[in-house]
Amino acid sequence: MEIEKLAPHVQEISRALGDKLSEEQIAEELQKCVDVYRLSIPMAKRSIVKKYGGDVSGFSLTSQRKLAELRPNEPVVDFVAKVLSSNMKEISVKGEKKTIMFGFLGDETTSLPYTAWETEGLDIKKGDVITVKGAYTREYQGRIQINFGNRISIRKEDPSVIGDIQVAQGPPKVVTIGGLRESMGYVEVKGRILSVEPREVTVQGEPKKVFSGIVADETGKVQFTAWSDFRLKQGEVVRISKATVKAWRGVPQLSFDERGDVTKVKEKFPSAEELAKGPVRMISEVSAMGGGMDVTVRGTLLEIREGSGLIMRCPECKRALQKGVCKLHGRVEGVPDLRIKAILDDGSGAVSVVLNRDLTEKLTGVTLEEAMQTAKDKMDLEVVGNMMADTLALKVATVTGSLRSDPYGLSMIANDVELKAEDAKPEAEKLLADLGGA
Ligand SMILES: [Zn+2]
Repeated sequence: MEIEKLAPHVQEISRALGDKLSEEQIAEELQKCVDVYRLSIPMAKRSIVKKYGGDVSGFSLTSQRKLAELRPNEPVVDFVAKVLSSNMKEISVKGEKKTIMFGFLGDETTSLPYTAWETEGLDIKKGDVITVKGAYTREYQGRIQINFGNRISIRKEDPSVIGDIQVAQGPPKVVTIGGLRESMGYVEVKGRILSVEPREVTVQGEPKKVFSGIVADETGKVQFTAWSDFRLKQGEVVRISKATVKAWRGVPQLSFDERGDVTKVKEKFPSAEELAKGPVRMISEVSAMGGGMDVTVRGTLLEIREGSGLIMRCPECKRALQKGVCKLHGRVEGVPDLRIKAILDDGSGAVSVVLNRDLTEKLTGVTLEEAMQTAKDKMDLEVVGNMMADTLALKVATVTGSLRSDPYGLSMIANDVELKAEDAKPEAEKLLADLGGA
């Protein structure tokens, strides 16, 4: 940056430092901070004054704000924060695929979720300290959300120059189980213990007894691990405070240790049976939290994919055979099986669902034996899958299972499925008739 433009800043620094540094030296330092360390000018001024022992109180980062001060729907906000997490996700906007980045940012006051709607040239990762200019805010589910749109300017700062940011833990955030996200800091949830059992693990070479299980409220279920014995009992309703959220294979999990608080709650709460079923969730919502276990979604079966229907599996590795050939074991005597691979879309998003034999039989009303008989009669293995595709496509199905987010998109291994009641019976009958007739 040109020296002349820096002159007023040099004078300001000089006033704060007295005779500790000549104006020439200050100019040199300032230029280095701006050009080499790529600090913003307010940040550079502050760090020089700090470095040479001046009073920094007059050197607020002007327009810069603390995250806790941000309000919803601010069109332009500037701040310095530490990147706590960064995840990429492909989304579809008006039919166009694009990649966005999301995660959490933190400063001394709080941590907030962010979304970057343009990721081209955006190179930020966990642990980076960044100066952000021109972000905007929205409110989502009662929480401030920071957005990086097309007016954004982001600069990575050197933590050794500006000092690392100690991200506030703050009091635990009270959240619903369905609202748990990775890197939220301390959280507090209230839920019913659906299951709990002790488990032996090894921590730094030492055996340790931990307690893991499932806790649920009306918004969802989550697997937990208690690293200390809180005498948790199945069926009890508890408030768990100072827990943290980690993600395992994209699915949030709750973890708490002796620093946590667990108290029994004596108030009306849904029964274990009600909670086990879980609410119907939006696919986009589950996707945004990186997945979930025992999630129920409802949508249209947009596409019954190839490899559905009657398939042959390798007797050794259980892989589906391609024309009688296993990728690993060559030509083998196949073991028949039924499955459905489908794309389920609820308008907010789509998930690739896999139904095993039991669920395929439940959904179609066709047993493996009937499918085999049909294939034998028609001397065509694929006829079953084609018929299932014809009858199931565009039907509305409610599917429960573990929903995972991976680089290929969202996928769910179902453990229950149901067609919309008015769709179910006639279709199953039609399918049976199709398979039996002609
Ligand atoms: Zn095999």
